Amino acid sequence: TQRFVTPLSQVSNIIDQYENAKASSERIFGLMDIPSMIAEAEDPVELEDPEGGVEYDHVDFGYMGVEDDAPEELVLEDVSFEADPGDTVAFVGPTGAGKSTLLKLLMRLYDPIDGEVRIDGVDVRQLSLESLRSTIGYVSQSTFLFDGTVAENIRYGRFDAERGEVVKAAKAAEAHEFIESLPKGYDTRIGERGVKLSGGQQQRLSIARTMLQDPEILVLDEATSAVDTETEMLIQRSLDRLSENRTTFVIAHRLSTVRDADTILVLEDGEIVERGDHDELIREDGLYAKLWGVQAGEIDDLPEEFVERARQ
Ligand code: ADP
Repeated sequence: TQRFVTPLSQVSNIIDQYENAKASSERIFGLMDIPSMIAEAEDPVELEDPEGGVEYDHVDFGYMGVEDDAPEELVLEDVSFEADPGDTVAFVGPTGAGKSTLLKLLMRLYDPIDGEVRIDGVDVRQLSLESLRSTIGYVSQSTFLFDGTVAENIRYGRFDAERGEVVKAAKAAEAHEFIESLPKGYDTRIGERGVKLSGGQQQRLSIARTMLQDPEILVLDEATSAVDTETEMLIQRSLDRLSENRTTFVIAHRLSTVRDADTILVLEDGEIVERGDHDELIREDGLYAKLWGVQAGEIDDLPEEFVERARQ
């Protein structure tokens, strides 16, 4: 018999498991897709048929201290760019440049202090949280899985999905095979009291969940993972499938991702300092070209393949 999980009732348990406030807000977004501290507009706009076009229009942002009414310093300054529906935009830059902050504004974990972020022409602050939740999918390495069966965890992407759709999503996420090999297949319990999954398996479940959600916009945090080469290949393949026909924003750690992106935005100290595709930026011979050729260890947190390449 299959237990039906009411996910909202689980959220407080889930939150308890996470001591770090920042980490928990990121994970909650992955799970609930709605950050708690953001208020919905009074007359929220529903996107009837979202296409997934995104614009950043002169966006400034700074984190507030606990008792500040103005941020001490800007973490993002005058950020403007556009992504057409279906485009892939890769963000590159040193640690602390503002890449993840930039995407948090799209997901409304925070709001800009100046300027606007728009989806299909609508300021995200005007959108209903439900529209925002269903339009944006978020995949990172720190996947959020709850105590429940594999099927329930995938169905979190869309509660009314039928078993056939869950399986289809799992297949597209390269997860079907390992799921079938679990003791009870899709009805295997995972989490604290169930079967422990490897990092690569968890990630593929989160990809399956997002396949099912079928958002127009995908936010990918491509942190380099400690998985074997074959798993890495499966994950890459499923992420390629997932980002197909969706507007995709990726904090890039893989050279192949950066190379294939329609646009690369290079961030430094909260500003976009270069933009273009790979070939254009190499020709420009600026920060991107420098990152590309940098000696390993000089700058922290470079995309791993950059470092590898530099070592050769
Ligand atoms: P990146 O993703 O490029 O590494 P981040 O967006 O994480 O950069 O960080 C940009 C800047 O904002 C850094 O100086 C970082 O220390 C700061 N920062 C990030 N998150 C927070 C936060 N929750 N509160 C205060 N400062 C933060």
